[in-house]
This record gives sequence, structure tokens and C-alpha cells, in this order.
Amino acid sequence: MSTPQFLTSALLPVPHGFATRAGGVSEGPYASLNLGFSVGDERPRVEENHRLLARAAGARLGALCRVSQVHGDVVLEARGEADEVLRPTLGEADALWTEGEGSWVAVGTADCVPVLIVDPRGRRVAAVHSGWKGTDLEISARAVEALEARGSRPEDLLAAVGPCIQACCYEVSAELGDRFRARFGPDVVRAGEKPHLDLPLAVKSSLVKAGLKSGQVDVLQACTACDRERFFSHRRDAGRTGRHLNFVLHRF
Ligand SMILES: [Zn+2]
Repeated sequence: MSTPQFLTSALLPVPHGFATRAGGVSEGPYASLNLGFSVGDERPRVEENHRLLARAAGARLGALCRVSQVHGDVVLEARGEADEVLRPTLGEADALWTEGEGSWVAVGTADCVPVLIVDPRGRRVAAVHSGWKGTDLEISARAVEALEARGSRPEDLLAAVGPCIQACCYEVSAELGDRFRARFGPDVVRAGEKPHLDLPLAVKSSLVKAGLKSGQVDVLQACTACDRERFFSHRRDAGRTGRHLNFVLHRF
């Protein structure tokens, strides 16, 4: 068995990763590193995948903080100590952050946009799940605001936008295209017979509006729908697929 493989961003100065599907024990449509409990996979396999992830990340399983994602714009702070078992989610939210040493925060995705944010000065880390609804609600900006409320400065933040469904594969309705064009400008919709939405660009636009400069945001060029070997894709696989975890450790 191989070990979990992650994509990383050269911009982030702490351990982090955007997990691919490689290196887990799940089978069939969940092969192999499925980290979603609510997608129809066998629970013991998903639990084992979390153990493998923690080992590969060099982190304690009990220090992993997650949320129950609901496509909203709520941001939660993760606190507290941990033993060696996977803790329940903090509650319903789509972003979480921590300033607790040794903690790590993560969000699950399979086409939606994962965003990891690091404040090297204030020593805070955040993870954001931004599908089209969360992007429309500008949850990435809400996460920046939550960090600011605790003393972070936007000019210190570094953000990485991970693998997600990209404009090549993300055809949307004319209505949704118009909505995003109005909010984020013409570049977020690729014109053609049917509009194609550039979600990561919209997310970057939110982060820039929140005070980050363009150079503080790294957008990884990896489309979950294009790359069947490396990624789960909710759209490509018609809903029967696994979930990736995208994580960042509080280890400065
Ligand atoms: Zn694609």
C-alpha cells in the first residue's frame, strides 16, 4: 500500500496538504483515500484513511478539527485538547481556524474549492470550503474577517486555493453565470455556447477584496473533474464518489 499523496503550495510556510485519492484503503468509487463519512463508503475504511492521513501529515489524529459543511458562510474557531481518536465535528460551518499549537484544521471537497490561509505573524491557520454557494456568499472573505477580529492583518496572510472543478469543466446556467459576472467581474465566466465558471478566480477575487494582494494568493492549477487518476469529482462521478481532505497544521 502506498502512502497518502498531497499537493502543496510553495507559498504556505507551515505543513499542509490538499489530499489526492492516492494511498488509502477504500475501494470502488471511493478508491482509495476517501475521507468523507457521509458518501456511502464503509466507516472502518474511512477511519483507517484518517489514520493514514494523520501519519502522512505528521500530525496527531486527535488534534484534527473539522466542521459539518453546509454550503453557508459560518466560520468557527477550533480550540481544545485532544486524545488519539478522531473528534466529532465542531458544528455546522464551512470554515474553521485555530491558534492552538499542534492543532490542524481541514475541510472536505470533491469539486468545491478548498482554501488554506496562514498568518505567520499572528500564528493562526484556517481552512475554507467554498462551493458555488459559499463563493457567492464570499466565505473566504468571512474567514479573513474572523482572523482580523482576533488581531490578524490582511497584509500578513498567505492563502492557497487548491484543486477544484475549474472553468474547463464547470458549465453553469446562464443565470448563475450572470450572477457571478455581476459580483466578481467578467473574467470569472468563460464565454462560449454555455457559460463556464472560474470558481477559483472568484475565490481569489474575494480574498483580494478582503485585503490580500494578488501575490499573497496561490491558485493551484489542478482540475478535479479533468483528472480522474488523482481526484474525486462530484460532478464527473454523478455524486457517487469520495471526498478529499485539505488541511493545514498550526506548526510555526
Ligand atoms: Zn477540467
